[in-house]
Amino acid sequence: MSASSLVADTVWKSIEATRSVTEEQLSILHFLFGKNFERATRIVDQKGVKRVSGEPSQRSIFQVVGESRRKEEYLCFADSYCACYSFFYDIVNRGEQLCCKHQLAARLAAALGLCVEIQVSDEQLTLLLVKL
Ligand SMILES: [Zn+2]
Repeated sequence: MSASSLVADTVWKSIEATRSVTEEQLSILHFLFGKNFERATRIVDQKGVKRVSGEPSQRSIFQVVGESRRKEEYLCFADSYCACYSFFYDIVNRGEQLCCKHQLAARLAAALGLCVEIQVSDEQLTLLLVKL
């Protein structure tokens, strides 16, 4: 794990614990993620993060709305994967960023308790995952 992902991890954990963001944490996240963090906060503000959880396993995946006019949604895991183009191009291929704006939005919404929670059966969840 790189130093910056360790820093990010620590910040996320303390946001989760307090369910709020301090000025200091905001500036750290800005420093680490720049424009992507601003985009992520806009997504969270418009209630663009859904957490889809399967019953009874409680395994879950995030469904995050994009910013384009088409408002497509991307399936993503906050720490490991996003179905968007930027994840593949900037992160997997070029290794330039820690994560994409959808993953950031998912992290932020989960830490602040601002996800739209959706319960589905495990079968339905599996059908979603098959599309990845
Ligand atoms: Zn993404």
